[in-house]
Amino acid sequence: MEKLKADLHMHTSYSDGVLSPSELVTKCHSRNLSVISITDHDSVEAFPEACEQASAFNMEVIPGVELSATTSEREYHILGYFIDCKNQRLLDYLTFFRLERLRRAERIVEKLNNLNIPLKFDAVLEKAKQGAIGRPHIAMALVDEEFISSYQEAFEKYIGNSCPAYEKKFVMSPEQTIQLIASAGGISVLAHPGRSTNSEMLKSIISAGIDGIEVIHPSHPPELTKNYQDIANQYFLISSGGSDYHGGKRNDDMSLGRFCIELTLVDAMKKRLFSHKTENKSQ
Ligand code: AMP
Ligand code: MN
Ligand code: MN
Ligand code: MN
Repeated sequence: MEKLKADLHMHTSYSDGVLSPSELVTKCHSRNLSVISITDHDSVEAFPEACEQASAFNMEVIPGVELSATTSEREYHILGYFIDCKNQRLLDYLTFFRLERLRRAERIVEKLNNLNIPLKFDAVLEKAKQGAIGRPHIAMALVDEEFISSYQEAFEKYIGNSCPAYEKKFVMSPEQTIQLIASAGGISVLAHPGRSTNSEMLKSIISAGIDGIEVIHPSHPPELTKNYQDIANQYFLISSGGSDYHGGKRNDDMSLGRFCIELTLVDAMKKRLFSHKTENKSQ
């Protein structure tokens, strides 16, 4: 039998993923994953349903979230793991971030309309449903309404960073984001550094107190994976990884079950979490 693995990065329909939490858990089980974390953008709402479905398969679901943070020039994604999904401060922030996302999506649609693309905001809402609304929903609506022919084209022509219909999100600094995760009892991991950082920026995030790096990610070629593994070892950071699976139009089905980590790395995360908790008690 194939060895069981962990995937600590994936999305459901509570953000920009396509599957419901129970559909996603069932799919993960079929891909031989025994530990997963659902890391929706600005939402922990998938957690209860995911746990219920996972118990039928004897799988472990680590509570997770993907937050956005920024320095003056770059946006980073920071994953929070083992957070208390009932922490009121965290929940208040997540509600605020989702509201800001809604306002920003309205501004993007307004910009598209000014560019002579008469996309209706309702068509975007139809894609996002109850989830944290983001640019992927706008891209999907643009394709379905036949304003463009592919999901990628939306980012290349209109809504990608520095494209004409781009709008910034409300985001906190990496320090504030790491602190918010810590205050909800969690540990923080820098998501897909290959997409967002150069080595100087990575060092500044490490100085800001990040606990780990997402070493394994579909966007990392083998030499980059090795580079991040070396950095994690050098700075005594956790190495994490996952598929960043969203489903649907992204053609990322092959990633689920392929971009994953050994269960021993999950144990290392738990040890780090435990040492955080004992540190806090002794302060
Ligand atoms: P948002 O959080 O609304 O800014 O949307 C960010 C999400 O859009 C990312 O997590 C990616 O999934 C997707 N995305 C951002 N840039 C691109 C791009 N150039 N091509 C495809 N997807 C992208
Ligand atoms: Mn996403
Ligand atoms: Mn991300
Ligand atoms: Mn993600």
